[in-house]
Amino acid sequence: MQYRTHLTTSFAVCLPILAATGTLTAGNVIAVGIGALLPDIDEPHSWIGRRTRGVSDLMNGVFGHRGITHSLFGIALVLIPIIFAVGMTPLPFITGMCVLAGYCLHLIEDSFSISGIKWLLPLSNKRFQSGLHLIYYRTGGIAEFGILIVSTLILMAEIRSFGTSLQLPEMSFMHSLFEKIKGFIH
Ligand SMILES: [Zn+2]
Repeated sequence: MQYRTHLTTSFAVCLPILAATGTLTAGNVIAVGIGALLPDIDEPHSWIGRRTRGVSDLMNGVFGHRGITHSLFGIALVLIPIIFAVGMTPLPFITGMCVLAGYCLHLIEDSFSISGIKWLLPLSNKRFQSGLHLIYYRTGGIAEFGILIVSTLILMAEIRSFGTSLQLPEMSFMHSLFEKIKGFIH
């Protein structure tokens, strides 16, 4: 699945949940987006891979595309930096969970592609296709284009109904986050 389809489908799923729980903030929406793009860091030609060359080349060389980052073990691995970030920076717990939600949604979305994903790596190389080979899409194919259009339309309807409840980040939070980051760099 291409990055824009990952974004539109993940946002379409998460926006109503964030709105219903009173957690629809700009930070949480961005966090879902980051989580939804992160697994493809193992592919140097993906949107995120092109922006992290070096890291993405290394990940691709060691694990291959749709390897360990696209497995349950990958979810456990990504949880480690999230827990650290929540514990050691002013990053709210819910925002960390939004990164995790975006990450999990990416894997679910990829599991509906024709080739599925290897959920059980490194224990098993078995591929799982969530649509039981009846419901599937090919990356960049006509079915994915259909998913992109439908999810974009749903997202636009959601933005119309929930968009006004979007809470923009408080300046005090942004300031303390910036100070922490500055502290880490120095
Ligand atoms: Zn992927």
